[in-house]
Amino acid sequence: MSNVPVNKTIPDLAQEVRKRKDGLVALRRDFHRHPELGHEERRTAGIIAERLHAAGLELRTGVGGTGVVGILRGDKPGRVAAWRADIDALPLTETLALPFISEIPGKMHACGHDGHTAIAIAMAETLAAHRSELPGTAVFLFQPAEEVLGGAESMIKEGALENPHVETVLGLHLTTLFPAGHVAVKAGPSMASADFFDVVVRGKGGHGAFPHLSIDPITVAAHIVIGLQDLVSREVAAQETAVMTVGQIEGGTKHNIIPETAVLHGSIRAFKQPVRDQLVERLGSFASRIAQAYRAEARVQILNGSGCPAVVNPADWAGHVHDLAVDEVGAGCVPEAEAIMGSDDMSLFLKERPGCYFWVGAAPADKEPMPHHHPGFEMDERGLEVGLRMGLRTMLYALQKRDRE
Ligand SMILES: [Zn+2]
Ligand SMILES: [Zn+2]
Repeated sequence: MSNVPVNKTIPDLAQEVRKRKDGLVALRRDFHRHPELGHEERRTAGIIAERLHAAGLELRTGVGGTGVVGILRGDKPGRVAAWRADIDALPLTETLALPFISEIPGKMHACGHDGHTAIAIAMAETLAAHRSELPGTAVFLFQPAEEVLGGAESMIKEGALENPHVETVLGLHLTTLFPAGHVAVKAGPSMASADFFDVVVRGKGGHGAFPHLSIDPITVAAHIVIGLQDLVSREVAAQETAVMTVGQIEGGTKHNIIPETAVLHGSIRAFKQPVRDQLVERLGSFASRIAQAYRAEARVQILNGSGCPAVVNPADWAGHVHDLAVDEVGAGCVPEAEAIMGSDDMSLFLKERPGCYFWVGAAPADKEPMPHHHPGFEMDERGLEVGLRMGLRTMLYALQKRDRE
């Protein structure tokens, strides 16, 4: 350490953050009480637009559906850097007993996106308050529908990274993998790709007592489910990582009836594009040939638009964020991050532009953390403040970055 530049734009960043801390928590709790699912984030988008407008940002609303882009042009020369925050919730009914739990049964912020939204708004407001000193142009991308992996693609298609032309994209995910106060970043693949598939097995229905007069799609589906694991263990190189999961099986109506069809719904995860391509491609012929062996037919459909590539952090940007994190929270609070098999369509922004997606700890201090997407998911809100600090540090760095660095 380190070539971390001294932050001159906001000399007393810690004080700025302290000033906004309570407002940040209140804003997160408001989003938490009013969760909205992907593509339906109208209230959330309305609040974002209102706050950004009041802070003096240029606004584009309805980008890729319910997305919002806020543009803050600083008075000093500099680069164009974007900060991405996802804003959607999940179809879960919250089981926590907190004063600010979800007011909508069946919908819940169980991944921390309420925190991401609040942090990004607070970042925009903080930088807007220092506009006369701000170098370059900060772009805020409030992305809908991350949980269904659709929002990033539609925002990019609708030009979210142009006018102004964004050079770098940064973002964070709050996580209960680490305690509040910790920041982690991984160079290279850090989250897996995701592809979702359906396999429709067609046989010939009939009486359960006379299987020889039928073609049983249930048996075929069972062989396909087991066989998929062999695709991973026998065809993917041992040093690579991949997961194939069938999460849902549909077929049949009664104990003694052989149905016409059975349907599998599953997903494929991998860290490297060739591994992803290999499994996606193999699935089709593998399933159909197993079916053929049993005289049935299997059709595989990869659900277009529902997947995304792996999140890959370029080594230089992961290094910059790591150095900034060490400077901001101390080396002891920057644990080594492992790649995880979860997916995030931030990967699509990072395919378009260099940048970094990093972790900010928010595990509750006094209890066993619940995993993300659990109805009892809870965060230590002290992580929000760390997220705000790291968001500001990394954005200021990107806005001032010179090529030789
Ligand atoms: Zn999630
Ligand atoms: Zn998430």
